[in-house]
Amino acid sequence: MTAKKPLTVLAAVLKAHGAYCGCTGACGKEHTGRKCMAGITGKPIRLTAAPYPPHATDGQNAAAPVSELRPWCGPCWKRALESERERVADRRRRELEEGQISLFDVVQGATA
Ligand SMILES: [Zn+2]
Ligand SMILES: [Zn+2]
Repeated sequence: MTAKKPLTVLAAVLKAHGAYCGCTGACGKEHTGRKCMAGITGKPIRLTAAPYPPHATDGQNAAAPVSELRPWCGPCWKRALESERERVADRRRRELEEGQISLFDVVQGATA
């Protein structure tokens, strides 16, 4: 084992996946060539290492293993995170509605 200086998480992710946005549509935007070109063309951009696809909560995102992380450009990450949060909120809403329906049925059954 050589005592190498440990890479930061972002540096490790960029080394593994390339120093450009790894989004291939998770943000909901149709990228030309199915891939976000941020960081590949144009001037260098700020990239964030975050799970792909994103989790709905900051806690889940922070706890994601390095193997799940990809480089993200700011706009893609923001949009992907928002759409994932919407998806989860939508699912919770539906689960809640279903829960209320079955609860209602239980109450109905008990009184009938
Ligand atoms: Zn994107
Ligand atoms: Zn991007």
